[in-house]
Amino acid sequence: MTDVLTSAASRAAFPQPYAYARHELVEPDWRRFPGWADVTEADWRSAQWQRSHCVKNIAQLRAVLGDLVEDRFYADIEADIANAATMSMLIPPQMLNTFASSVEPAGAGSLTEAFYADAVRRYMLPVFSDRRTDWTSHPHSSRDSLHEHEMWKVEGLTHRYPTKVLAELLPTCPQYCGHCTRMDLVGNSTPSVEKLKFLVKPDTRLQEMLDYLRQTPGVRDVVVSGGDVANMPWPRLEAFIAELLTMDNIRDIRLASKAFMALPQHWLQDDVRAGMERVAMTARDRGVGLAIHTHVNAAQSVTPLVREATKAMFEAGVRDVRNQGVLMKGVNATSEDLLDLCFALMDGAGILPYYFYMCDMIPSAEHWRVAVWEAQELQHAIMGYLPGFATPRIVCDVPYVGKRWVHQLHEYDRERGISYWTKNYRTGIETADADALSRTYEYYDPIHTLPASGQRWWADHALESIAAADAAHADA
Ligand code: SF4
Repeated sequence: MTDVLTSAASRAAFPQPYAYARHELVEPDWRRFPGWADVTEADWRSAQWQRSHCVKNIAQLRAVLGDLVEDRFYADIEADIANAATMSMLIPPQMLNTFASSVEPAGAGSLTEAFYADAVRRYMLPVFSDRRTDWTSHPHSSRDSLHEHEMWKVEGLTHRYPTKVLAELLPTCPQYCGHCTRMDLVGNSTPSVEKLKFLVKPDTRLQEMLDYLRQTPGVRDVVVSGGDVANMPWPRLEAFIAELLTMDNIRDIRLASKAFMALPQHWLQDDVRAGMERVAMTARDRGVGLAIHTHVNAAQSVTPLVREATKAMFEAGVRDVRNQGVLMKGVNATSEDLLDLCFALMDGAGILPYYFYMCDMIPSAEHWRVAVWEAQELQHAIMGYLPGFATPRIVCDVPYVGKRWVHQLHEYDRERGISYWTKNYRTGIETADADALSRTYEYYDPIHTLPASGQRWWADHALESIAAADAAHADA
């Protein structure tokens, strides 16, 4: 008895840094928002209703929220659209309904602070006051920060790693995330960003991708992405997957869809389930791994409808549903938030936590980005709580390199926030580059995370640093 008391007392005195608790998933009641007060369950579960009621502008947001948030919040969004946003507004009701869901509305303005503080709001509905005013963008940020276009073999097909490719089937999604790494191409233009357009006709583009894959037996793994495959009419997506399944070299197919979380209603439609069953059966017969990769950044996004979608896909024969989140300050960059999310995914929905990417060096992203050392600390802090197979790796997507575990860096200048990375393969643009494997490649921490001397260095040398990087790239 004394031992029991002693151990209970010592547990209280020395608690675990993270306290695991099982939480039931909740679908927040959408009727709490004035604009959806009369929306029925049947409408809510309809993918068509969800798509036709996505929030695309401030007027539509007001129609849903009314005066539950103050005018200053709407003005803050407007300022962001005018001055900084790299993505246009597009939020499915399913996703908007998870904002500030733990706060009961109590009249005019009552949700203002909860909306400002909400993790998902922070990246799906950016406000100007969230952005940094010192270094809004890193001097080395760029529209296509991963240089995917340079690695296109045919339009939209990025061949960066030796055995795998990324196929961007389309440039749209059912939802637009403020931090989108493909902000160069995906979505509608904003006042700050004129989007690029695919030039080749969609049918031709897809056929060219398939032709390349047939002619390139070294590729075994295709990430079928966009944009978001949920925006591709199912028959066209099924036809593309079916073609991939005729190729002996293709052993893994991963369908990328953030809508799996943001619009699970899409994946619950009868035609999508039946179609997935057909391709999954063929995949199984041929020993090909067919999986869905989704993108969830906060535990509150994992709702019973997401669990239903996962169950439906498992019943259809999909091998796995995995999550690739993005690590962002204000959203999930604490060990507690990351572990809460991982357990919600695993215990709640049967989704495998897989990766957390550091937010890429796109313009206007400095308020979201974390430094490499912060990511290393987070990786350390989340070890040991989850099963090993479900402990996500935090990765830095290093330009011209690809994903590296955050502890894999070669050198690190903490004063200037420059990490140096190496790689062990040639990307698709380096087949004739003798130095590709001996060179180091840079990644840059947000300047506001640096010591004062480092911040001064950037204030004095930013242009010089960009010129040096450009020259080094031109020589390569
Ligand atoms: S779902 Fe993915 S591709 Fe689409 S906007 Fe979000 S991050 Fe970008």
